[in-house]
Amino acid sequence: MPLLTLCSWRETCSEDSIEHPAHTLTDPTSFRDSMNDTQAAHGGLDDTALSQLYQEVVLDHYRSPRNKGALAETTHRITMNNPLCGDVIDLLLKVQAGRIVDVGFQGKGCSISMASASMLTDRLKGRSVDEAMAMDATFTRMLHGDEAAAADAELGDLRALAGVSKFPVRVKCALLAWNCLEELVGPDA
Ligand code: ZN
Repeated sequence: MPLLTLCSWRETCSEDSIEHPAHTLTDPTSFRDSMNDTQAAHGGLDDTALSQLYQEVVLDHYRSPRNKGALAETTHRITMNNPLCGDVIDLLLKVQAGRIVDVGFQGKGCSISMASASMLTDRLKGRSVDEAMAMDATFTRMLHGDEAAAADAELGDLRALAGVSKFPVRVKCALLAWNCLEELVGPDA
């Protein structure tokens, strides 16, 4: 994914900064070159189209968050923040017999932090705690630039956040909900 298309993510944490994908097509020459090089690798999608698709997935979770709100019954709960950006996430779990039978979140923050929390709840509802920790490890590796992790279909929509690995400050936004999860049910919890 070219740096060009994600340049706005490193500037501020305001969500409106990634709402204008048209900004990314500033160099038509490099756009054509990248199409030729990468069409086969992405099933006909060039890198720019792919990153726009990923941005749409992120914005969809941000605008229509899954599992946002209180649970009927909560067994685990924690609130954490990311002072670098101002993100605050309150993660709620209902865990029974080692399984996350319900999960939700509340809070506010940038599009990356909120989308990551929404995706987390989407992927982890019904999973065992062990499966959740395995996904946490894969997602964390992806955000540290591991390409094998980024190709793992198990991550689902979370793969749309792979490009965040190029912006270390924003990695903390993407990991905030997962840090909550680790605090609640991780090996040191
Ligand atoms: Zn943030």
